[in-house]
Amino acid sequence: MPILKNAGMEIIHISAECYPVAKAGGLGDVVGALPKYQCESGDIAKVIMPMYRTKFLYENDWQVDYKGNANLGNLYFEFTIIKESTNKLGFDLFLVDINGLLDRQKIYGYDDDAERFTAFQIAVVSWISSWEHSPDMVHCHDHHTALIPFMMQHCYAFQHLAAISTVLTIHNAQYQGWMGWDKSLYIPRWDLWKRGLLDWAGNINPLASGVKCAGKVTTVSSSYMEELRIQANGLEKLFQFEQGKCVGILNGIDTQVWNPATDAYIQHSFSVKTLTTGKAKNKQVLCNRFELDINLPLFVFIGRMVGEKAADLLPDAIKTAIYHGNRNASFLVLGSGQTSVELEFQQMIGAYPGIFNAVIGYDEQLSHQMYAGADFLLMPSRVEPCGLNQMYAMRYGTIPVVRSTGGLKDTVVDMGDFEGFGIRFNEASIADINYSIGRGIKVYQDKTHLTWMRKYMMQIDHSWEGTVNEYKQVYLSLK
Ligand code: ADP
Repeated sequence: MPILKNAGMEIIHISAECYPVAKAGGLGDVVGALPKYQCESGDIAKVIMPMYRTKFLYENDWQVDYKGNANLGNLYFEFTIIKESTNKLGFDLFLVDINGLLDRQKIYGYDDDAERFTAFQIAVVSWISSWEHSPDMVHCHDHHTALIPFMMQHCYAFQHLAAISTVLTIHNAQYQGWMGWDKSLYIPRWDLWKRGLLDWAGNINPLASGVKCAGKVTTVSSSYMEELRIQANGLEKLFQFEQGKCVGILNGIDTQVWNPATDAYIQHSFSVKTLTTGKAKNKQVLCNRFELDINLPLFVFIGRMVGEKAADLLPDAIKTAIYHGNRNASFLVLGSGQTSVELEFQQMIGAYPGIFNAVIGYDEQLSHQMYAGADFLLMPSRVEPCGLNQMYAMRYGTIPVVRSTGGLKDTVVDMGDFEGFGIRFNEASIADINYSIGRGIKVYQDKTHLTWMRKYMMQIDHSWEGTVNEYKQVYLSLK
């Protein structure tokens, strides 16, 4: 779909992640791509994010744009806004440096994350409030930035920003940023009558506040939007009440980054035409490195090893598949998360030579090589707001084996249905995963069907162009 060219809007994305600066999951991918394609469509999209100590920071040139100070309760802090000098990512990128709070190795996982991200939001809003002009749109992402609509409307120091339109995109509603009311002093002096806009179930709930205060709320697939009214980690009633301002927009994928014909991370590039030989060569590389039997269908898992992804079921599901299936498939997993799951996988390394291996950790390059070399990608997720992995897999001709939930339901058609190219199952259970692996092993023998499915899904358009237009409609509805 062509991108609608239009009079440029200035859109300010505020996020905790942005690929390739800092990424922990899909949020990073989306914020690294959406602004780029918005700029291509004629808008002026910019990204503001925390300055962590990442490789990207040290490898690029920066200029100081602004210096300011603010308070987080009783803590006075200074902050600096730096800008990447060369427009390397296709949009203006600004980092917020708050000495001692944000400049750390990891993005999340510190005891003072509430303080870190509240200070980040205060710094961002303070900076925007110093501008001589108003942007057209402030677009927040997830709970780390979801207090911003409240701050812009109800903190006395920022009320001149109240007329600026705001959008909140929810990439994952499981995490909400809860804080006790003892931390309410962190938020710059605000209208106490508005306490209800911060509160949910007796705590300050930044995500809930964002849903209440933002002009529009989007989630990253339509099915997930519907599911949130039934299951939203305590916010179901809020999503039911606010459904009039909520819209589901399926994520795109960055087809410049995720392209098997040009991907510098993979050893053998390939296209739809050269799919069969290209994939075989990439599989060979993976099988050599991880000592897996090249003749077996290769199932991989890439992702956070957490309950949402049903990673806890995988060790037993894989063992069952190995025993019941007479060792006729091989498995490779990449990820980190729950210690018990990591340990189980570690113990399985060596126990099943030729058919199982695991890498515990985060490895961007290996993930690309796995999408390229695998035959099947397993995603038994209990919750999947959009899921990007299945779309990357499809682009590299790897058949997704997914549970029917959220964005997986919206992007994968079961091979038993008309023009189906994937494998879907209903329950996050060992039995369903095993049955689906069995279906995969069976279709792997049918090379004609297999090749048709691979070629078909490689050509599905998941690019950002259509999605950019949908976001544009949301912005325009607020004008
Ligand atoms: P999430 O819920 O984690 O955001 P998504 O499917 O939306 O899930 O996005 C996951 C992104 O993170 C994909 O780009 C995937 O390839 C990447 N990813 C997840 N875990 C790892 C890992 N261990 N190593 C490399 N990439 C990973």
